[in-house]
Amino acid sequence: MNVLWDLDHTLYHTNEKMFDAFKWATVSLAKEYGIKLSDDVLYQKALNSWNEHACSRQFLVLEHGIKFEETHERYHQLIDTAEISIYKGLHDAFDALEGKVEHALLTHGSHYWAHRVLDHLDLKPYFKSSHILSIDCFDGHPRKDAGTKVYEEALAHLGWSSFDYMIEDSADNLIAPKKMGATTILVNHNGEQNLEHIDYYFDTAIEVLNFLSNK
Ligand SMILES: [Mg+2]
Repeated sequence: MNVLWDLDHTLYHTNEKMFDAFKWATVSLAKEYGIKLSDDVLYQKALNSWNEHACSRQFLVLEHGIKFEETHERYHQLIDTAEISIYKGLHDAFDALEGKVEHALLTHGSHYWAHRVLDHLDLKPYFKSSHILSIDCFDGHPRKDAGTKVYEEALAHLGWSSFDYMIEDSADNLIAPKKMGATTILVNHNGEQNLEHIDYYFDTAIEVLNFLSNK
């Protein structure tokens, strides 16, 4: 069984402090680029960018001409991971699937970030290093909500002809996997449960792993 995971807010829960940490990393990044605005103004711009574009750095691209690709790794170096905590029992739930599931990860974060978070959560034993993928692995940083391209590239990289399940906290990122024949699972969904392209809804990654253990 081939299972593809998103990372942030999927394998762990992004609480308010963590949500803030992403925005403050953007503030720090803007200051490194010499943008002379107050912290509060930069924070608000990061928040607006997140709400409008699902990317807190988008205002750096649109208002300051700073290339998204150029800041991808540095931004992730500036994020404070102190607030990332593991779901209690997640390791046991992964252990229960040993030998039954091949896990891979595909994140909009940087490759550096994917490794840093998996190390932080002690989840590396469940993901072969070749199976830890991020959009900066691919030319042009193709996004998961922009069509099947990034998924096709990921499958080629993984040596998979298809994937059985895609697990995400973003409903938009599941449109392409559904088109490609994967079973789609939305986690941390805030009650959103009536979407045509979503097959299953769960609250946490542990619930997903328990569900997969019965497949
Ligand atoms: Mg996510």
